[in-house]
Amino acid sequence: MSLLEINDLHVEFRLDAGTVKPVNGVSLSVEAGQTLAVVGESGSGKTATALSILRLHPTPPCHYTGGEILAGGRDLLRLPEREMRRIRGNEIAMVFQDPMTSLNPLKTVGAQIAESLRLHQGLSRSEARAQAVEALREVGIPHPEQRAGEYPHQFSGGMRQRVMIAIALACRPKILIADEPTTALDVTVQAQIMELLAALQERFGMAIVLITHDLGVVARSADQVLVMYGGRPVELAAVDDVFDGPRMPYTKALLRSMPRSDVPGGAPLDPIPGSPPNLFAPPGGCAFHPRCALAMPECATQVPPLLERAPGHSAACLLEGSP
Ligand code: SF4
Repeated sequence: MSLLEINDLHVEFRLDAGTVKPVNGVSLSVEAGQTLAVVGESGSGKTATALSILRLHPTPPCHYTGGEILAGGRDLLRLPEREMRRIRGNEIAMVFQDPMTSLNPLKTVGAQIAESLRLHQGLSRSEARAQAVEALREVGIPHPEQRAGEYPHQFSGGMRQRVMIAIALACRPKILIADEPTTALDVTVQAQIMELLAALQERFGMAIVLITHDLGVVARSADQVLVMYGGRPVELAAVDDVFDGPRMPYTKALLRSMPRSDVPGGAPLDPIPGSPPNLFAPPGGCAFHPRCALAMPECATQVPPLLERAPGHSAACLLEGSP
């Protein structure tokens, strides 16, 4: 059963400099215990999609102009802000790339976890303090009773990310959104953090939406992969299908261009020529056409629809034919 389902989501930012559409027609679903990875270059819309799930974009200038985000039988786009505040952290939690920007440097980590528990679950001060120590233990922080009384700067980068995961999971959310959770960490610590997330997912049965640019992390952690380009979904399939048989030229180019931390010594990288599209003035037709070695004249005028090309494998490319 899907814990999270997004159908045809459209998001716009109406700025003085013009309108930007970072999310155009994204649909996805994630089941309990499953991980969906969203991949793409900077500006592809992957983080904009993730932030939309919790409605974290400032409104205005952000406008959710279409679609629905279903979780727990409700459309999150239509809930009052008061109800969203209850859902954030309680039912759906988020882990960001840089724990130092998310943690309060002036409060002990134990106090920060306890604060989240008191806010979301109404625990007493002593109950929250005891559960905060337990949360640190769950994420593998040694001597949690002692370390709960320490400040973020007293933790290494990897340990700070464990603290962030402890805060995110303290209220046992059903859905975790992890936005580049290992990017700021060295390779060994990255692997430890992903193993920790996998172990906690198995224990608590969360659905995870993983935003990452590291295809090694995707290969090891994801069940499904959504590839985004220029704010549009361009390929969606099971992880093995994407790695073994990518259908869309952008996905193929991405696989050749992005780092693979799961390949010993790394695979040689073949950068994609050109730059991601300017979202203020995206190219017409298939947004990838200025960079696509296989582009045809019609690619400059026709937007390829994302269609199922094989069972469970959707791709948006005119080479695959139109409906
Ligand atoms: Fe390349 Fe055309 Fe397919 Fe876009 S639609 S990926 S430009 S072949």
